[in-house]
Amino acid sequence: MTKKRAIFLDRDGVINKKAKEHDYIKNWGEFEFLPHIKDVISQLNKKFLVVVVSNQRGVSRGLMTLNDVHSIHVNMQTELKKSNAIIDSIYVCPHGIKEKCACRKPEPGMIFQAARELNIDLSNSYMIGDSLTDIEAGKKAGCKTILLADANLARETKPDFAARSMLDVLHFIN
Ligand SMILES: [Mg+2]
Ligand SMILES: [Zn+2]
Repeated sequence: MTKKRAIFLDRDGVINKKAKEHDYIKNWGEFEFLPHIKDVISQLNKKFLVVVVSNQRGVSRGLMTLNDVHSIHVNMQTELKKSNAIIDSIYVCPHGIKEKCACRKPEPGMIFQAARELNIDLSNSYMIGDSLTDIEAGKKAGCKTILLADANLARETKPDFAARSMLDVLHFIN
């Protein structure tokens, strides 16, 4: 069976507005889509699997439950579908830093799990995120990386591409 190409998306700061520093998106009421993301996902659906890989340490900190996270994702996918935007799969790391799991980005565990479960060709796939840890995880997994951020962070992080917005991202993907 031929392997599929995927776009791995970080969630907070890519799909939806980030919570304030040290806070988390704990329920659907706090979730706000970023501009253009629905259209961009729907474009990406034509050529790629779209897979979300998200660290949600607020679960380990007891600020929300894994069920709260799932319920946000059910709502998120329902809203996206109204714009013909499909997320093929979602992986969440609920662990804290001290748990030293293999899934919390910058570790590539969620990307490797997705590659096994969905038969993904990692070297022809992309990891898109707004943090250094997303880019590190993508590199460790052997994906191409796109950082959504200002030029300063891009200089430190050295992604394959730096984009100012998700609309911009479409130029780098082929
Ligand atoms: Mg992020
Ligand atoms: Zn984890």
